[in-house]
Amino acid sequence: MSKQDYLVRATAAEGAVRAFAVRSAELTDEAQRRHQLYPIASAALGRTMVVALCMGSMLKGKEHITIQIHSEGLLRGLVVSADSAGNVRGYVRNPKVHLPLNSKGKLAVGEALRPGTLHVIRDMGLREPYQGSVELQTGEIGDDFAYYFSLSEQTPSVVSVGALINPNGSVRTCGGYIIQLLPTADNGVADRLEERLPHIPAVTTMLDSGKTPETVLHQVLGDFNVEIWEQREVQYFCPCSLDRFRQGLITLGRDELKSLAEEQETLELVCHFCQEKYYVSRDEVLRLLDDM
Ligand SMILES: [Zn+2]
Repeated sequence: MSKQDYLVRATAAEGAVRAFAVRSAELTDEAQRRHQLYPIASAALGRTMVVALCMGSMLKGKEHITIQIHSEGLLRGLVVSADSAGNVRGYVRNPKVHLPLNSKGKLAVGEALRPGTLHVIRDMGLREPYQGSVELQTGEIGDDFAYYFSLSEQTPSVVSVGALINPNGSVRTCGGYIIQLLPTADNGVADRLEERLPHIPAVTTMLDSGKTPETVLHQVLGDFNVEIWEQREVQYFCPCSLDRFRQGLITLGRDELKSLAEEQETLELVCHFCQEKYYVSRDEVLRLLDDM
């Protein structure tokens, strides 16, 4: 693939293992620039977007997935949304958090997120979207999703996600992989995987040395006979528009709109997900009121 950011889906061990790998430095860097994220926030959002893209790649058509982390930590939490076409967007509630590196010399994502809860909402176009939630374990994202997959979806999983942030705040590397054991996997597969994992380098090390998502999966799954099924581009994309914001204003109701029109010459509306700004004049608000 010519584009830097992409995702691959694979199976291994004759279909007993499902695997995903993503390289997402560019889209995470775009998120960093749009939201002016400090490094810890970039890492938290970047790691979560990797998982969202993997989960999104399992969806079809207009289905989408939303991941919310409600946090009492300094970051206050984050929201990420991904669709079935490789689009992802997200924001961190308090992106301007700085903490010393943790005991492993890494960005202190867990310390900035815990305690908190992880919520997954899958909108499959049904009346009631699927929802699952778990308490954050380490708050390092990978561990938390591994716990979520095993508890809420009964799918034992290895989730390895990471980001390297440059001293100037830009994103050097971001990506990760998810390995899931399907019900057909016998204990032998789980045991062999467990033996391999301690010898696998960190995913950021692999990606930073130029490994592609495919070679990452080959390195992690070694002799499990990896079969790559799909490659797809992934990007930061927000479908917001002035029209959507106008529709949103209508849902505020007449009284609220009236007082907004009285207070302000021009409304400035900011999209949480992408920081795009939209402006609605008083005249337009009055016209919306006329149409209600
Ligand atoms: Zn937007």
